[in-house]
Amino acid sequence: MFKLFHPVNIKFGEGLIGDLETLLEGYEGYNFVIVAGNSAKQNCILRVIESQLDNRVLGTVVGIEENPTMENVDTIIEMMNNTNADALIGIGGGSVMDATKVASIGAAMGLSARKVISEKSRTRVPLILIPTTSGSSSEVTNSAVISDHTIGKKLPTNGPEVFADLAIIDPELTYTCPKGVTAISGIDIMCHAFDAIGNVKHNPYSDTLATEALRLAFKHLKSVYDGENNREGRHALSLATMLVGQAFSQTGTSGSHAVSYYLTSEFGVPHGEACALTVDLWYKINSEEDPRLEEIAKSLGFLSVDEMLDAFNELKKSIGLRTTFDALGIDKKHLAAIAEDALLQANMKNNIVQLNEAELVELLNRK
Ligand SMILES: [Zn+2]
Repeated sequence: MFKLFHPVNIKFGEGLIGDLETLLEGYEGYNFVIVAGNSAKQNCILRVIESQLDNRVLGTVVGIEENPTMENVDTIIEMMNNTNADALIGIGGGSVMDATKVASIGAAMGLSARKVISEKSRTRVPLILIPTTSGSSSEVTNSAVISDHTIGKKLPTNGPEVFADLAIIDPELTYTCPKGVTAISGIDIMCHAFDAIGNVKHNPYSDTLATEALRLAFKHLKSVYDGENNREGRHALSLATMLVGQAFSQTGTSGSHAVSYYLTSEFGVPHGEACALTVDLWYKINSEEDPRLEEIAKSLGFLSVDEMLDAFNELKKSIGLRTTFDALGIDKKHLAAIAEDALLQANMKNNIVQLNEAELVELLNRK
């Protein structure tokens, strides 16, 4: 038996953003606060949206940090309160969308960001998300991660109210995405897929979507990074992001993400690169426990799990990602602390193979 719940209304296609009037049917009476990433501002996407919504945009928040903070979320909530807007639009990468999601709950409930994270019974204001990168899948997922600098941790939150009402996915908005962001967010698509497959909560739906996302990313990520075949490649990566987001909304992430949070909060490793560092190790040990993982590798045209993971590691190198603790500038004396933190993460329990701290340190030591 498995259950499916994916309530996001998705609109996908090139050039969609030019016709907001049609896209926002049903939102006629609403006034908005827009949360925009720097790229949306620089590339005039924000202007395109504001000009179509005219006087229904009561405020705009920019300057959300790369790993969004409680303070970033509180700024959005404050803007909602000050303007009396009744709906939120988040346009940007995963950071902007995650912050907007959490703010949509705070604005509806009169709560600060920290209270939103700890609150059990939640509701939110209408929420529309428009991604400008391919990778986080935040536009279609039921989760968000906010950094709390007072305790030095990244705090994930999830639940049905963390799904958006509407995701407008226009691959053209990702055409100007810089190389580094393309690499780091693109590799996260694959980490989400690997984590959803090597997961005790997997089901036929999540496996199918995650496998297709891997196929698309293996085929297109390098050429998009190289700036070739932008239209077809960017379309494929936007699609892969949307598909895998629906997969890991069912399963959650697992080992690679559990390890990644500490690498990001303590050592500043970008999210996708932090997950990609260990995701191959997790897939390998999970495949030794569950033959399904080898079948999936073969369905993607590889002879074995090892061959697929070799191809993945080659891809990582070819798009400029660092592949060892050494390259990341992290001394291996920190492995015990990294393992200790990872084992405290809820998504570590999703992993097929469960390791103790000594075993996890031994695994991490292979990098
Ligand atoms: Zn991720």
